[in-house]
Amino acid sequence: MKKRILFIASEGTPFVKTGGLADVIGALPNVLNDVDDLETRVIMPLYQSLYPYWHSQMKKIASFDVSVGWRKQQTALYQITYQRVTYYFIENEYYFSRDDVYGYEDDGERFVYFCEAVISSLPYLDFEPNILHAHDWQAALTILLSKVYSCTPKMKSVLTIHNLKYQGIMLRDSFHDLFHLDDEHIGGMEWQGLINCLKAGIYHADKVTTVSPSYAEEIKSPYYGEGLHQCIQDRSEDLVGILNGIDTKSYHPRTDRAIRFHYQFSSSRKRLNKLYIQHKFSMEIDPDKPMYVMITRFVEQKGLHLIEAILDQFLTEEDVQFIILGTGESHFEDYFHQIEQRFKGKMIAYLKFDEKLARQLYAAGDFFVMPSKFEPCGLAQLIALQYNTVPIVRETGGLKDTVIPYNEYEKSGNGFSFTNYNAHDLLAVLRYTLNIFHDQDKWYALFRNVRKSSFSWEESRDQYVKLYEQVLASSST
Ligand code: ADP
Repeated sequence: MKKRILFIASEGTPFVKTGGLADVIGALPNVLNDVDDLETRVIMPLYQSLYPYWHSQMKKIASFDVSVGWRKQQTALYQITYQRVTYYFIENEYYFSRDDVYGYEDDGERFVYFCEAVISSLPYLDFEPNILHAHDWQAALTILLSKVYSCTPKMKSVLTIHNLKYQGIMLRDSFHDLFHLDDEHIGGMEWQGLINCLKAGIYHADKVTTVSPSYAEEIKSPYYGEGLHQCIQDRSEDLVGILNGIDTKSYHPRTDRAIRFHYQFSSSRKRLNKLYIQHKFSMEIDPDKPMYVMITRFVEQKGLHLIEAILDQFLTEEDVQFIILGTGESHFEDYFHQIEQRFKGKMIAYLKFDEKLARQLYAAGDFFVMPSKFEPCGLAQLIALQYNTVPIVRETGGLKDTVIPYNEYEKSGNGFSFTNYNAHDLLAVLRYTLNIFHDQDKWYALFRNVRKSSFSWEESRDQYVKLYEQVLASSST
């Protein structure tokens, strides 16, 4: 009998994506399903953006009411199979027929509803999970609810923290408004007098994982622990860091349909993509001009304050091109818009979420800049490596685990890094990258190492399989 794992998540490619979580949910179930005695399925919300293309291809399998406190919410459950993985979708117009995925005042309530709806869906699935594998705060409450409602007594649970910063915090007063639980259940979810969805998951899950070994260590400390370090320490025996991979079929410069000039080993073919982007954005056309790329959510986490502190100087003093693709906090959007005006033709700020352009930029860049303050794993630097674009990162979390600083004497390493969260250290490393770029021997030695870097899912998949085995073994004791 196969082991059955149900992934619960708020986003996943190809259906909906706002960040790296979607890449993971879009790739990991597929590689897990290559394992003979395992089947993974996924359950997600049915957002408005899915209607035009996906909705008509889905099959409705049930409809029922879900209670959120005193409110009854009509719910429909849909199913679709995409690339060997079965996906279930929870439909509710009130909570999910909105323009965006997140960012609403009632996000807490929306995902309480989602978790209640997931649990209510279980009897209608042609799939009885052995393990609920919840991803991030939006799904974390399913772990508590499955225990309280004891849907399937033997069902075990895993929580993966993709980013500890986002916790789903609500006023404690909302407890009775949102849940049908007795007061005794507040304990696991209470945090500093508030309700904390992620904490409830950490507290109740059989195992907790995060997405790189370094981040798993870091979050035990107050600096990285986002107020939950004590709770993480209490679970440290059951905490494991498993590095994310990327979908190397989807992200492959030899076949990616988004990019103009396909390549695998040839740096000269890669450069054609740089020329394409220079032309597209009316920049100076020069294959030898170093191009720095950033693709990111505009939030403090991504080190944008460091960029703000030094970009003007870097662009004034150096003969380089810099392109940033991203959206988010308006303060950063304004800053990048303004600096684009100052450095016309040298600096491009494209303030949108654009998957196709992202892929074209991964292919076009010489360098990928990612000076994060913290980084649970980071997929962008892995995608950059896959497109032979050299990452420049701060040594934290998954960046530290995947980017090895280039040593020009030993010719080892696949990128550049700096240790302290300090703008001048970033500027110094950016200047150093130019020395290497202009030294053909050193540049090619680095380029060779970059080409050899590989972050496919296979190794991490085996670690998840082992973890599932441990979790299930513990159920028989
Ligand atoms: P996070 O999940 O914290 O946002 P990751 O590096 O793990 O960071 O994943 C980010 C993912 O989102 C990558 O696939 C990256 O290419 C993509 N991405 C980020 N911003 C944009 C954007 N503006 N347009 C297209 N893709 C983006």
